[in-house]
Amino acid sequence: PEDIRVYEFAEACAKSPAEVITVLFGLGMMVTKNDFLKQDELEILGEEFGIEVTVKDALEDANYIDDYLEEEVDETNFVTRPPVVTIMGHVDHGKTSLLDKIRSSKTASGEAGGITQHITAYTIKQNDQKITFVDTPGHAAFSSMRARGASVTDVIIIVVAADDGVKQQTEEVISHAKAANCPIIVAVNKMDKEGANIDMVKAQMAEREMTPVDWGGDIEFIPVSAKTGNGIDDLLENILLQSEILELAADPKAKAKATVVESSLEKGRGPVATVIVQNGTLRVGDNIVCDTTYGRVKAITNDLGKQVEELGLSETGRILGLNDVPDTGTFMVAQDSDKEARDIATTRAEHARAKELSKSTKVSLEEMSGLI
Ligand code: GDP
Ligand code: MG
Repeated sequence: PEDIRVYEFAEACAKSPAEVITVLFGLGMMVTKNDFLKQDELEILGEEFGIEVTVKDALEDANYIDDYLEEEVDETNFVTRPPVVTIMGHVDHGKTSLLDKIRSSKTASGEAGGITQHITAYTIKQNDQKITFVDTPGHAAFSSMRARGASVTDVIIIVVAADDGVKQQTEEVISHAKAANCPIIVAVNKMDKEGANIDMVKAQMAEREMTPVDWGGDIEFIPVSAKTGNGIDDLLENILLQSEILELAADPKAKAKATVVESSLEKGRGPVATVIVQNGTLRVGDNIVCDTTYGRVKAITNDLGKQVEELGLSETGRILGLNDVPDTGTFMVAQDSDKEARDIATTRAEHARAKELSKSTKVSLEEMSGLI
């Protein structure tokens, strides 16, 4: 329980320590003003003074389970891993078109059955080096992922339409990108259109502390067209350059850890989670826990729609076998046994429930003291 002394409690309730001591004394509990209050004493005082007191469970706040899941990092097995790139930008500036064009121009025809369908995440090869792309998981999802510490993105591409320039969502994306603290590349899209003006885009971006390299800043601006495919190779080369500097590495032999970028309940298949592997290798048969959900990997479908046995570093695929649909931004972590996976998920679920309950029915002492 949260440690609080008699006089601190009194202060928070705008009572004198003597009043607090008197109440407890009346019930046969002997305390002095410097003593720590126990849970039952706090409850009694709460009733006596007509205030609601929440006793915080130490487990509830301490992310002890997450600490427990934190693997010791052993760099001896580290290998270079491909960068994970997120594309963000104002609506209609061409994020989806760009992603689809990159994919179709880099995937041998036939390999994915003539890919027509847009997918959330995929991996391509540029000069024998892999790059994984993720479609914007929506601003809200992106923020929640950041809040959870899910730093799935290594490089952010901000798409700005050359005929439209910086718009409201571009501004939002700029602040997201800056907060994410990873390299940013600006893709100036729709260069094929009449009225395309890259200098206008550069000027608008420079005003927002996103100064182009050729203007003395440190942000690369790459002119592209998702329609014609022009500039896409430049963009990919630039991504590889930026990621080289990051020296991205992970351990393919470690316990698998992946981030959920999309999830849903599919008819006949159950909960499906699209993940990107951050560390280790995720295999069919692995016991997994994912926030409050758990299970055993029943099947993995890769980004080409093929059934595979495993996903390696920075690779993406759809995972079948969880008992429920996990939230976007949560981590999927392999465990040694199904019992471990279930125990962790169950404990988390209990804590989440307890937290919800105390949130909805009680005011915490801290909030109380703020009110008085
Ligand atoms: P998103 O909302 O950012 O995902 O944008 P979309 O990819 O859906 O594109 C919005 C519209 O712009 C669509 O009608 C696209 O066909 C069009 N578009 C996207 N990129 C280009 C481009 O490079 N050139 C031209 N001319 N049109 C484009
Ligand atoms: Mg889109």
